[in-house]
Amino acid sequence: MTETLLTRRRFAGSLAAVAASFLARPAASAAASATTPAPAPAGAGARDIRLDSNENPYGPPESAVRAMAGSAPAAARYPDPHETPLIDDLARHHSVAPENILLGCGSGEILKMADMAFLGPGRNVVAAEPTFEAVLRFAGLARAEAMKVPLTAEFRHDLKAMAAACGKETGLVYVCNPNNPTGTIVAGSALAALLAAVPRQTVVLVDEAYHHFVDDPAYESAAGWTGRYPNLVVVRTFSKIYGLAGMRLGYAIAAPERIEAMRPHAVWSNGNVAVLDAARACLADQTQVARTRRAMNDTRAWLCGELEKDGRTIIPSQTNFVMIDMGTDVQPVRDALAARGIHVGRRFPSMARWLRVSIGTRDETAAFLVALREVAPATAAGSRAA
Ligand code: PMP
Repeated sequence: MTETLLTRRRFAGSLAAVAASFLARPAASAAASATTPAPAPAGAGARDIRLDSNENPYGPPESAVRAMAGSAPAAARYPDPHETPLIDDLARHHSVAPENILLGCGSGEILKMADMAFLGPGRNVVAAEPTFEAVLRFAGLARAEAMKVPLTAEFRHDLKAMAAACGKETGLVYVCNPNNPTGTIVAGSALAALLAAVPRQTVVLVDEAYHHFVDDPAYESAAGWTGRYPNLVVVRTFSKIYGLAGMRLGYAIAAPERIEAMRPHAVWSNGNVAVLDAARACLADQTQVARTRRAMNDTRAWLCGELEKDGRTIIPSQTNFVMIDMGTDVQPVRDALAARGIHVGRRFPSMARWLRVSIGTRDETAAFLVALREVAPATAAGSRAA
């Protein structure tokens, strides 16, 4: 029996070993300084490259890895004592009160809580088409109706049409800013106009999963607006710039009444001790945030430049992913890339010609480009810019 049980010391020791090997990985800073990307071989035997879920290929900062390893001794106890300090840190980070913060098992759980709290039979959610689908899927669970409003010709949210689609039965308006899968933003002024236009009882759910990658000055986060708008819920995640997608943590910022309406729909103790401690370390290391943003946005700019040189049409992106027009249904291209070990975003039915590729390291992104040029040469893809 004792043979098969991991002692606390051995458990902590093995986690520390994992942490040490993790810390040996290439950092965002090293990648950012590389000017000439070296294309990795994309042929048989190459390790699979995942550019399908808009993650951060560099992972969390070293301080967060150490925090996760250091949390092992707390594994036997429920995580409540680790929640309060993180909520306090988040409140300070956003200049709000702890009562304005709600944690979720990923921001996906927050989206589900919002649907459960603010929708139900006879109610509807207004959202762009296409956008991140979670809110629409969970709306089905709440037996509410989905009202999809097409994006504009520039692939942006049509906020005027979305406001016009709201009625007294609208429980939620979902604004993904920047939008997944198109990578486009909503300007701060347009978002404020939407908040002024929707009925008071309608909750505006602003999903800022990709907030940190934006550099368009017209963008404004709504995280600081919850005092002004009691019907605003802002959603953030630790899965993107903070590099903790595998650990699962997100949060909402909203007026206390909205937080308390969502809280009963949360699973108790929905954040584990490791991620709660790691999140505090991530928040404390804003230098790493800036470094990762620079590395990924530089790689995005490089990739977009190459795609444009090839004559392909892309949607200018404010996120860590890019949409490329393949000129024909994207599925065969996805399959051909997967056969070469390169996995790109799913097919979006309302944008079936478009390939969504997440930004990886420079080498991963270069390997994608080599493979794309092989499986869908720009001229054959028929996506030359007009
Ligand atoms: N919102 C958006 C816009 C996303 O793209 C994603 C995941 N890709 C999520 C929320 C959910 O992320 P998580 O549950 O990992 O926080």
